[in-house]
Amino acid sequence: MLFIKNLYKSFGNLEVLKGVNLTVNKGEVVVIIGPSGSGKSTLLRSINYLEIPQSGSISIDGIILDAENPNSSTINALRKSTAMVFQSYNLFKNRTVLENITESLIIVQKKSTNEANEIAEALLHTVGLIEKKHQYPSSLSGGQQQRVAIARSMAVNPKLILFDEPTSALDPELVGEVLNVIRKLAYEKMTMLIVTHEMGFAKDVADRVIFMDDGVFIEEGTPKEIFTSPQNERTKKFLHQVL
Ligand code: ADP
Ligand code: MG
Repeated sequence: MLFIKNLYKSFGNLEVLKGVNLTVNKGEVVVIIGPSGSGKSTLLRSINYLEIPQSGSISIDGIILDAENPNSSTINALRKSTAMVFQSYNLFKNRTVLENITESLIIVQKKSTNEANEIAEALLHTVGLIEKKHQYPSSLSGGQQQRVAIARSMAVNPKLILFDEPTSALDPELVGEVLNVIRKLAYEKMTMLIVTHEMGFAKDVADRVIFMDDGVFIEEGTPKEIFTSPQNERTKKFLHQVL
């Protein structure tokens, strides 16, 4: 589904991605862990072309973007095939929960209001918030807002969902409900690439865990391999600090 080859990204003189290679298969859940500043967000943002990489290639379900030779139709196709869920949920404040989800269906995908409502309601059932459909985001908890954001990201029927620390802005007691929604998507075989600091969650949801440090992938393996017998000293040190 996703195939990244030798991706490089710098901000001025600061090299942030130093040759990243990554394959994510259809239906696979890959979790990236690593210290702050190691380039995890930049990698996710580059996949969605929110950041412009200098070289390498990104391919999603056959659409290939060559970073040194990008064209706008490929960029648009790439963006359309992915959805991103951020740490802060960024819902439209003056739209109801339902409208937050139907907006892009009606405006971008040109669906009728009825059809958009049906899709949005089905997604609200999935994230357990159908009873909140007419409320405004401000009346919802952070965890509920993030669940709406996840439903919204799914509305465009993405081939891949990118999660960038989806629970790190939440109060601890609200983390579980969001992780459970992501677990449910994993169970439904949604292809996902997730950056998280929730190691317990990573352990039980990931098909594969990647440890990233200083712009490169240091080590990857099954959750068991990474969490119980990491091979690299940097992985060991990081896990020792966070576990
Ligand atoms: P992580 O998500 O792993 O914490 P980031 O990808 O956010 O790491 O950041 C990696 C490095 O790139 C950091 O040193 C950060 O300061 C730098 N960086 C990120 N975004 C920008 C930007 N827009 N301009 C300049 N430097 C940036
Ligand atoms: Mg980050």
